[in-house]
Amino acid sequence: MSHDAYLVPASSAEVPKIIGCTNKLAEEGWISPYTGKKLAFNWWREDAPYKHSHLLVSYFYAKNKADFRAGQDLKGLTIISDSGGFQIATQHLKGLKTDLQPEKVLHWQEVNSDIAIALDFPISMEEYMITPEEFKKRLEFLYNNNQVYQKNRNNADTKIYNVLHGDNLEQWEEWYNTVKEFKFEGWSIGVKPSYMPLKISLAIMFLYEKGIRKNLHILGTTGMNVIPIFAYLSNFIENITYDSSTFGQGAMSRNYITPMSLRWDISFGDKTNAKNFKELPCKCPVCQHMTIKEVMDPGSLGGALCSHHNLYWTVQYSYLMNTLKSEKRLFLKFIDNFCTPETKHAIDFIDLAMKQGFKVAYDRYIIHDELFRWKQENPGKLTLF
Ligand SMILES: [Zn+2]
Repeated sequence: MSHDAYLVPASSAEVPKIIGCTNKLAEEGWISPYTGKKLAFNWWREDAPYKHSHLLVSYFYAKNKADFRAGQDLKGLTIISDSGGFQIATQHLKGLKTDLQPEKVLHWQEVNSDIAIALDFPISMEEYMITPEEFKKRLEFLYNNNQVYQKNRNNADTKIYNVLHGDNLEQWEEWYNTVKEFKFEGWSIGVKPSYMPLKISLAIMFLYEKGIRKNLHILGTTGMNVIPIFAYLSNFIENITYDSSTFGQGAMSRNYITPMSLRWDISFGDKTNAKNFKELPCKCPVCQHMTIKEVMDPGSLGGALCSHHNLYWTVQYSYLMNTLKSEKRLFLKFIDNFCTPETKHAIDFIDLAMKQGFKVAYDRYIIHDELFRWKQENPGKLTLF
């Protein structure tokens, strides 16, 4: 039984690779200026400066590669595939039409991944509460796709995860009751905003109350305030995973996490606020093989290296939380010192839900969910379908 929560770095390209890394770099890697050794960017490879066990790929980006696992040594790597629902929604928001066929998506997911997230359409892309009609349409979209998945799946090695969306108890109940008939191997949840620990905990404990005790994936979320929550919940739920692409800011804007603090970063390249640095302020396995020159130079190498360093520190934070959670006194002390009060609220909520049941805890803590209150007072009229 796995008692840890695993960070799943997302790749957003046609082939799995670190965000911002060009195909050429992904293929060639980089040469350490200190040892002359060639190193890979792909964190699951033996020749990467550090190895990590999980990867998330999206059908939407990688669909043109029929089988990207062919010919690659992916030993020990768990691959989770997102169907592309999030990207469909993004395309819709941009006014573009997309046409994803669920059979095709499922087939691709079965070839390419160990865990397949069902083809969903998130409901919380927007700040406004969507209309009840829109909610029903998106729920029906998942229901119909689940039927296709149930009927057409033919690879027992690929676990399928159902999806829960919603903004509050009423929506979670309606959503869950509609799609619970599908007996897939796990569940995933999409909660927005993804950085709010209490909001995410409310949704997870809702599923816990329904008897979900293993195989849970939290879609698109990360950060210092929520990672402790996943670690804590892995005491009670087996095999929790959560994906993130935040580390990719390294490639987008040359942001570089300050070692020991995920919350504060430095900028390099043409956006630098550290132009007088003589050397990098980090000796992680990536930075041991780079100099200040690479992160300052224009071109894609510096950005890819920053992403790689950022990923290292996010993975380290995740390890730290998984270790600390077994010593609750130390764990809470850490949270008091390094997280916002909302993280502690979320832990208290989880403890109360464990002791007195979900409903009692929900009623007591929902008032702390500021966004919930705001949405109740500001209902939107947004429709996408
Ligand atoms: Zn580093």
